[in-house]
Order: sequence, then structure tokens, then C-alpha cells
Amino acid sequence: MVSLSDGDDPHFRKAWFDPLCCPADCPRPCQQVCPALAIAATGAVQSDRCYGCGRCLPVCPHGLIEEQGQILSASMVAPLLARLRPEAVEIHTRVGRGEAFAKRLLQVEASGLSLRRLAVSCGLEGPAGVRPLQLAEELWGRFARLRAGGLRPLWQLDGRAMSGDIGQGTAHAALRLLAAVRPIAPPGPLQLAGGTNASTLPLFRRQAGSALAARSQAAGVAFGGVARALLQPLILQAEQRGHRLLDDRLLWPRALELARGLVAPWLAC
Ligand code: SF4
Ligand code: SF4
Repeated sequence: MVSLSDGDDPHFRKAWFDPLCCPADCPRPCQQVCPALAIAATGAVQSDRCYGCGRCLPVCPHGLIEEQGQILSASMVAPLLARLRPEAVEIHTRVGRGEAFAKRLLQVEASGLSLRRLAVSCGLEGPAGVRPLQLAEELWGRFARLRAGGLRPLWQLDGRAMSGDIGQGTAHAALRLLAAVRPIAPPGPLQLAGGTNASTLPLFRRQAGSALAARSQAAGVAFGGVARALLQPLILQAEQRGHRLLDDRLLWPRALELARGLVAPWLAC
């Protein structure tokens, strides 16, 4: 799956600061809070490791850290997809951005790819006070557009974007959003996202009454941030050995084992 967005979105930003401006005696709280190990003991943000979670932004006592948007330009979408040939495309969108979504979709369609799914990732972020009913109405609008283009949707309910690695409490946000939107959502599989972590499935099972009931209420779980935090040390180790994690015969099985620990309870439902 390739992820895109139809406007500003925390999933598509990087943190940046000029290390030359940092006082020499700064205890580097930015480094301590970064879950992606993107800020080392010296120097700037390592852009390829930063995934834009934003945790470093408020902790700099000197206000030196900025966020920089990384939105793909319209003309880049079709060539990128034609090169990567993904099976699915995910578009991060927001309430109030139906028009921008439609434009992004046109760019995706221009790639000529035959996609298995078009995932729509959306939560309650956006205009202040967005309610689940508004979100569902917007999803219905996206659904009409997808259907017109012959695309099969996958709805990703973004409970609390990129927060799964903060702690156990974030799992509640994704489940609350699912409970509110599920009865009024358009057709298509619903997936938990945004805030999901290792607590999500036990909590979901308890709330739903059984594993089977949980499985009937959601089609899957997106373990974005928490999976990244889990695997990041292995990715870095592989980099230090001069290759990708995927190509490391020792580390790759370990990475799969860690990832399996997250998804196995779901697969066993
Ligand atoms: S804390 Fe988040 S936004 Fe800041 S550098 Fe690390 S990954 Fe990037
Ligand atoms: S917290 Fe601010 S001043 Fe300190 S190292 Fe990070 S960016 Fe520089």
C-alpha cells in the first residue's frame, strides 16, 4: 500500500531544526522523546527516520523545532504509483476536504493501476468539534466517489493519529471511534487505526464480549506507530550493517517475530 494525503496531515511532515542554534548545554529533550530515534546525541533531525509524530515540537525549551510539510505534488502522483505499482493506495483525508480528496483520487486514477483497495484514513481531526455523524457523512461522500470510479473502499478510522506507542490509554480512542461510526458507516471493511497498540485487542475483546464478536465489528487493525517503534531498533541495526532490514538474514526473522506478536491475536480471533 502507498499512502498519500489530500492536504496537510501529520503523517506527511518532518521535524527540522538547525543544530548550530542549539545551546551547547541543552539536555536535548527532543532526542529523549523521539520514538523513531531520529534525533541523535548531536546534530539535526535525521529526516529519513522522522515520521512526523510531532512529539519533539513542543519540548524544545528554545522553540527551535519546526514542522515541514511533505505533501506530494499533483504531477508526482501518477508517475510514483506507476513506478511502485502498489496493490492498494491509502488517502489520508479530513472532514471538510471532500473536494481535495476527489482531486487526489483523480491523480491516483490517472496512474491506470488496477487497485485491490482504496483505503480512506480519517478521524475526528480537522474543524473544531467534528462529530462522528459528520465523519460518517463525509465517508458516505467518499464512498459515492469511489463507487463511481469502480474502487473498493477500506475505511481506516483514525482514533488518535500516530499515538499507539505513547501508552495503553490510546487504544481507547480507536475503539470509541469504531463504536460511534460503525452503525452509520458506508459499506466496506472498517479498520482500527490511530492509537492502536498491543492493548487494543485485549481491550476490544473485553468490550465486544468475545474475540469473535470483536472480529465481526472490525475487519482489521493498523499497527502503525507501535509497529514502527518495535522495529526501529532492528532497522537501525541493519543500516549499521550496511543493508536493509529485509535483506538481513539474522534480523529479518526477529523482526517478523516481533510483528507477529502484534497481529497473531487478531489472526487467532
Ligand atoms: S519526535 Fe517525531 S516528529 Fe520529532 S523527529 Fe522524532 S519522529 Fe520526527
Ligand atoms: S531541545 Fe531544542 S535546543 Fe535542545 S537540542 Fe533539541 S532542538 Fe536543540
